[in-house]
Amino acid sequence: MPYDPSNVFARILRRELPAQFLHEDEHCVAFRDVAPQAPTHFLVIPKAPLARLADAGPEAAPLLGHLLLVAARVARTLGVAEDGFRLVVNNGAGAGQTVFHLHVHVLAGRSLSWPPG
Ligand code: AMP
Repeated sequence: MPYDPSNVFARILRRELPAQFLHEDEHCVAFRDVAPQAPTHFLVIPKAPLARLADAGPEAAPLLGHLLLVAARVARTLGVAEDGFRLVVNNGAGAGQTVFHLHVHVLAGRSLSWPPG
């Protein structure tokens, strides 16, 4: 799908909206979710304008791997890596995606049931 640069995460990347940043590098940022669904809930997003995971091509493989590694690194920094954390990527409205800038949810700090709702 086409990327809309007025989405809320694009505005956070442009520092037009505030966020509690946990990490930033050349390729991505991580910040706390404004409506946490677990005691620890943060998002890792690429700086590249990708609306959904399904819009990523093979050239995005290093970037997608980087997002996972940053998710784990930030989880370790926050001290939640050993007890367990879950990554979620909602792709498309039918899966619950509400912000159309690719993001990886990282949830931790409570028991996470399976299957997810
Ligand atoms: P999704 O439903 O997968 O698209 O997830 C979007 C997430 O972004 C939700 O968990 C929201 O709580 C979160 N969110 C929306 N606006 C903000 C914001 N301004 N700062 C941080 N998180 C946000």
